[in-house]
Amino acid sequence: MRHKISDALLLFNGADGEFKAEIISATKNQMTVEVKNQTRTQLSSPNLTLLYSPVKNAKNEFIVQKATEMGVKTIQPVITDNTVKEGAKSERLGLVAIEAAEQCERLDVPEVFAIEKLDKILNNYKDHKIMFCDETGQGKPVAEALRNEGGSNWAILIGPEGGFSARELAYLKTMNNVHPVGLGPRILRAETAIITAIALWQGAVGDFNTQPDFRSN
Ligand code: SAM
Repeated sequence: MRHKISDALLLFNGADGEFKAEIISATKNQMTVEVKNQTRTQLSSPNLTLLYSPVKNAKNEFIVQKATEMGVKTIQPVITDNTVKEGAKSERLGLVAIEAAEQCERLDVPEVFAIEKLDKILNNYKDHKIMFCDETGQGKPVAEALRNEGGSNWAILIGPEGGFSARELAYLKTMNNVHPVGLGPRILRAETAIITAIALWQGAVGDFNTQPDFRSN
């Protein structure tokens, strides 16, 4: 980090806010700091989970970085019938999330879970409202679908390059906590759909309309 003794740092632990600290000793692998004062109270991200089918590796890191910057709370890669690339290495993606959280001045780091089968995840997410990005064109326009929707636990579900299978589409239709939405009249790449869906959700339900308190100002 190219810091030296007496340099000031800003530290956060994801639970108690942000604190100013000073380096009082440092070795190659260890550093001791003296915590001075709290600079920001804890600000947690909305209860939003990203459920997405992994794509080629580099894009996975890009997706985790963008989802972190945009305030997603947890990231759960899912295996769908058409998922081609399953290699979402959660420990590497966890480091990408930490770096992105530091850069965007979040005070919490999204958890990146190990990849799981979609069917199992849908069973575990019955207490979530699921914004299902339905590329078949049968979803509601997203603004209409999210109008007057309150907080609670939400998840955004995005399919793989080849889209959801007929089996999955039929199953998703049976779930009353699943809200199929459309993202406009063009087929978006998975990573484009993820960024678009998070932005629209954050604008309608999440924290994009709150007053920021950036420390870098
Ligand atoms: N099935 C499409 C095909 O084979 O051309 C591609 C699927 S798209 C690359 C990947 C995912 O992005 C879809 O499963 C869906 O979740 C989301 N998506 C892309 N465009 C969308 C749209 N216009 N409306 C809703 N979701 C969309």
